[in-house]
Order: sequence, then structure tokens, then C-alpha cells
Amino acid sequence: MIKVTVWNEYKHENPNREKRDEKAIACHPNGLHETVAEIVRELGEDKVSVRTAWLEQPEHGLTEEVLNDTDVLIWWGHMSHHLVDDAIVERVYNRVLDGMGLIALHSAHYSKIFKKLNGTTCSLKWRDGAYERIFTVKPAHPIARGIPEHFELGIEECYGEFFDIATPDDVIFQGWYDIGEVFRSGCTFTRGYGKIFYFQPGHETNYAFQNVYVRKIIQNAVEWCYSDVKRPYSDAPQIKTTLEAIRLENAEGDYLKHF
Ligand code: ZN
Repeated sequence: MIKVTVWNEYKHENPNREKRDEKAIACHPNGLHETVAEIVRELGEDKVSVRTAWLEQPEHGLTEEVLNDTDVLIWWGHMSHHLVDDAIVERVYNRVLDGMGLIALHSAHYSKIFKKLNGTTCSLKWRDGAYERIFTVKPAHPIARGIPEHFELGIEECYGEFFDIATPDDVIFQGWYDIGEVFRSGCTFTRGYGKIFYFQPGHETNYAFQNVYVRKIIQNAVEWCYSDVKRPYSDAPQIKTTLEAIRLENAEGDYLKHF
């Protein structure tokens, strides 16, 4: 069972907010976190359990208890990255090092947690909506399972290169826009024991999350980001004695008697 937490800043599409965006509400009537949670739930009740959390909850909904019970955290944020408490970012960061998976969607490229994990600005070239086609450039990767060599995404907010991220372990998807931009749309990283996937589609007023291949990629990513290596990274014991010394001691000196 993979325990997934979907985190959303929940601003654009929050119906209780004064500056709400009616178009975003139309795309995500129950909040963007529910749109994404629904995609993950399609993996089946026997495979995943899904909870949601958002910015305005106490501790942004990411208490120690919740994070300790999360195998894969999915993050969507856009206008309120700066309101995410640094102490919570540190907590998420340490959990990733300990082996929790992280999927950063779309504008989460500028989230504090993604920037911290990259160690770069994560800036990119932004343009308004354009027609996007996505190419699978690493077809053998588990996240590309069931995805054709390319698919039509349609109108999506345009992200272009240069995308200032750390060199990815793998670039799995490449986006092409009809206004002449390209973008590394799907990239993986590892930090500590944790696996990370960045995926570019998912602007709040477009319908990327309805695309069958986008849904499948997110589902594949949840499975790939899951790791059964879960141990405190920061508390890794400092080995003061060499492994050879330990082996010889365990052999009670018998080994040395031969010399
Ligand atoms: Zn956007």
C-alpha cells in the first residue's frame, strides 16, 4: 500500500476566497488537490491510500504525523510559495532524504521545497498559453510505461528553456510548443534515499489533468517514487571502525592465525 498525500496551496480555485478565479474553479470544482487525488485513487484502493492537505491548515496540513505516514508527497503551488513556513519545508526536505518520494507538479518548480532539493533557482522562460506536444524521450523508464512516443497535450501554459534545475538523473519527457519553445517536461532526481519527479503540465485554468496520458504519468510516478528504503538519513551512523576490522574481529582472530 502506497500512502500518498496531495498538497495544494488552494488559492486560485478556493470558492471562499475573495480573489478566486472562476475559470480555475470550473477546472477544479473540489480544489486542485481533489483533481489530483482522484487521478491517484484510480490506481485502486488495494494499491494506494490518498489524503489531501493545503496551505491554510495548521502546519499546512503537513504535521510530523502526516509526513511520517506518507510514502509519496505530491506538491502543487503557484502564488503562495513564500507563505510556506521554512520549518515545514525543512521537515519535508528531511523526509525526502529519509526516503519519501516527491512529485512536483507544474508551477511547483518555484516551490521552496523543489528549489531546496535542486540547490538552483529553478527559474524558466515563461509564456502564456500555447499548443503543446509532449515527447517520450526515455521510453524504457518506468514512468513512461504505457505512454506513446508522443502525445498531444493541447493548450497549456508555456514553460521554456533555460530551466535552471540541477542536472536530472533522467529526462523522460520533452515538451514542444507551437510558438517555438522546448522544455524538459518530465525529470527525475534522487536526494538522500528519496526519489523526486518534476512534471510540467498542470496549469490551474487548463485541462491537462484530464488528459489520459498525463493521468497515467502521474500514476506511474507515484509507483516509481515509492521506496521501501525508509531510514533516518541524518542519523546515519558514522562508521568509526572499518568493515575489515569488524570482519576480522568477528572471526575472533582465526583469519590472522593463518599468517
Ligand atoms: Zn501555471
